[in-house]
Amino acid sequence: MSQDSIWFATLNDTERAELRAYAGREVLTTPDVLIVGGGIVGAATAYSLSQQGVQVQVVEAGTLGGLASGANAGGIWPDQQGIEYPEAFRNLARRSRDLWGKLPARDGFDFDWRVNGFVTVDPMHWETSPEDLAMHLLSEGLSAHAIDGEQVKLLEPHLRSDITGGVHYPSEAHVHPVKAVLSFARASTAQFSSETRAISMDVKNGRVQSVQTTAGTIQPGHVIAATGWMADWFAAQTPTPPPLTPISGQMIATAPQPPLLKNTVLGKAIVFQLLTGEVVTGGSMVEGDATTPDAQVTADFAKMAGDLLPALKDVPFPHAWTGARPTTPDRLPILDRLPGVDNFLVAAGHFKNGLLLAPITGELMTEWTVAGKPSLDLTSFRWDRF
Ligand SMILES: Cc1cc2nc3c(=O)[nH]c(=O)nc-3n(C[C@H](O)[C@H](O)[C@H](O)COP(=O)(O)OP(=O)(O)OC[C@H]3O[C@@H](n4cnc5c(N)ncnc54)[C@H](O)[C@@H]3O)c2cc1C
Repeated sequence: MSQDSIWFATLNDTERAELRAYAGREVLTTPDVLIVGGGIVGAATAYSLSQQGVQVQVVEAGTLGGLASGANAGGIWPDQQGIEYPEAFRNLARRSRDLWGKLPARDGFDFDWRVNGFVTVDPMHWETSPEDLAMHLLSEGLSAHAIDGEQVKLLEPHLRSDITGGVHYPSEAHVHPVKAVLSFARASTAQFSSETRAISMDVKNGRVQSVQTTAGTIQPGHVIAATGWMADWFAAQTPTPPPLTPISGQMIATAPQPPLLKNTVLGKAIVFQLLTGEVVTGGSMVEGDATTPDAQVTADFAKMAGDLLPALKDVPFPHAWTGARPTTPDRLPILDRLPGVDNFLVAAGHFKNGLLLAPITGELMTEWTVAGKPSLDLTSFRWDRF
């Protein structure tokens, strides 16, 4: 369903053809590493491993980036998100944001990277004042500044005129997530095969021996599960299946508009404008894997956007899509070895920050595979913490 998202609608013909060309590609039968899942986490991990000379096969059941990774808000927001999470998350988020910043200069990467900033303007997001929120963020090591109504106007002149202040996060960035998935695939030496599903695996003597896929049997040295909230294909190998569930979100977008916004703006909901002009808003949270956009939700988000940005009043939102955030009980990802299976790693459950965390996840999985252990303490992301 996420393929109706604005991210697929704004690909050019070359990018569409590139995406299609991965469908049904022959698989390597004995790769060093098999990655199951061709979302942003699988793609970033494949890139990182191939940088180390590792031979990688990626299998993706649908289209690359076709689920949450192609349905999200494109936000790289370590400071704005960081306050909701423990230091272990913030450490990964900071590192990952810096890894994102290095990629645009590398061959093959073209994903609309911009450090466009983030501004929170609705009082529902602070208890007493923007100043108090900014001081709290700063005291937690997060980069943010209180701004008054005049400064809001300077940053975003098209917002409603009665806004009296807000919080500005100047280092927050934005990407086109499907172009990012494609960039990782293009820049890596990994073999990506979409429309290819992993069905089950054989484990003997504490090691995965083979993985059965719709394209035949693969005998990899290591396996990395990057399948978001879906664990059906490996759950049989563990007495305690991972507590991964989907939390669905709906987004909507206009047709291209004249320039209205530079920053991502958080009023009652997130609003941002793409380089191609479309204004995007949304981000509902509903348990489950709802795949059909709800007309009432579209109408509600469109009204909120029009209240915040008067130029959008009565502007239609022809694009509506949903995606499911891969979720764990504490909203932190699982980055761990499958208990009892030496050569099987899990990188899943990144909830609403999988795009942000993808590059650091890829690096950590690479270290684990190549060097035998990750360079950071991943206790907070263990499988057995639940
Ligand atoms: C509305 C919304 C807004 C969001 N906004 C942001 C944001 O601004 N910033 C941010 O950082 N994050 C955001 N997120 C979260 C982010 O999109 C996810 O955390 C991230 O995409 C997860 O990536 P993933 O690769 O782990 O999972 P997915 O994108 O779900 O990819 C997993 C892939 O595995 C494949 N797969 C599953 N089972 C199999 C199998 N058996 N064989 C082969 N392939 C299989 C699936 O087809 C899928 O493509 C948002 C999410 C939503 C829904």
